[in-house]
Amino acid sequence: MQPFIYNALPGRVIFGSGTLSQLEQEITNLGCSRALVLTTSQQRDAGERLVKQLGDKSVGLYANATMHTPVEVTREALDVVAKSKADCVVALGGGSTIGLGKAIALNTDLPQIVIPTTYAGSEATPIIGQTENGLKTTQRALKVLPEVILYDVDLTFSLPPQISVTSGLNAIAHAVEALYAKDANPLISQLAEQGIAALARALPRIVFDPEDREARSDALFGAWACGVCLGAVGMSIHHKLCHTLGGSFNLPHAETHTVVLPHAAAYNASATPEAMARVARALGVTDAPQGLYDLAASLGAPTRLEQIGMRQDDLPRAVEIACASPYWNPRPIEAEAIGHLLANAFAGKRP
Ligand code: NAD
Repeated sequence: MQPFIYNALPGRVIFGSGTLSQLEQEITNLGCSRALVLTTSQQRDAGERLVKQLGDKSVGLYANATMHTPVEVTREALDVVAKSKADCVVALGGGSTIGLGKAIALNTDLPQIVIPTTYAGSEATPIIGQTENGLKTTQRALKVLPEVILYDVDLTFSLPPQISVTSGLNAIAHAVEALYAKDANPLISQLAEQGIAALARALPRIVFDPEDREARSDALFGAWACGVCLGAVGMSIHHKLCHTLGGSFNLPHAETHTVVLPHAAAYNASATPEAMARVARALGVTDAPQGLYDLAASLGAPTRLEQIGMRQDDLPRAVEIACASPYWNPRPIEAEAIGHLLANAFAGKRP
């Protein structure tokens, strides 16, 4: 066994079907009685139903959560928090809504209960990304780690299959990078393998039948496992590239992860044979980067950066930004090789 250091994160997780009925009790357990519910505008109806369910335990709904947590939206939401005298937030949705809950917690230290409805994994991390003047910055702060995660499988049936696929591959990306992290440890690596396997098993079934309860349950468990990996250990070139492409070129979050992942894995493969063997084993294939590419392609997910809004002329600038302040990576960051990686991702070449 290699030596390691592991910092466990606090948090309460409730996982199951119909668990939404436990929300009132969870609010009470936190010593709270005035919950502000958060959603995106697309999930407003679900938010309104939740406010109704909570009755006098809720002070209302703020339904304007937006991807990449723009600070203007946070300011508006903080105003609602102050005026309504909310004593906790309940974030119902994907990473965008959870991001807003975290931003409120960062500013007010209010407790958060999060009810994830995608597979992005933000609920399990003390990480917050925020955008201001078109620039996205991220930070780690224990203050933003949600106190309670309430997973209710029933709420995920409505997630369209194609968003389920890209969101699930976004989660898998956390686990792949966790397996070759500088601060990897045996507990998180085990969870990473389990998370990849659960999602790789579930996603084809969800595409075939979005109401497959067992597959939805497996995928949500996989999302939690992969989110824990993201929260526990450092990420490398894959997350740096996605951060660059999303933050500076406005590419969509989950789709960017989906397209870049096989190429980032290929970039690191020769430096991380043990991690690649574990990814391949979890996917049930012999070659990890090819297995990741084939999984995405077979599920009809995008495989080319060009498909999701990247312009070829912007590739050199993306290389420059990604190499300017790189995250630690198992293989040294070489600008020319990163250029090849992005060119392959742009063209959708199988690794
Ligand atoms: P999202 O939250 O933007 O959701 C995508 C769309 O799907 C939204 O319109 C949403 O309302 C809708 N939706 C969500 N669940 C649904 C459901 N069950 N049924 C129907 N519609 C549903 O997308 P995302 O990929 O979950 O989150 C992306 C954001 O999360 C990005 O800003 C990213 O940076 C952030 N993120 C942060 C972390 C972290 O640890 N800080 C981790 C992962 C992602």
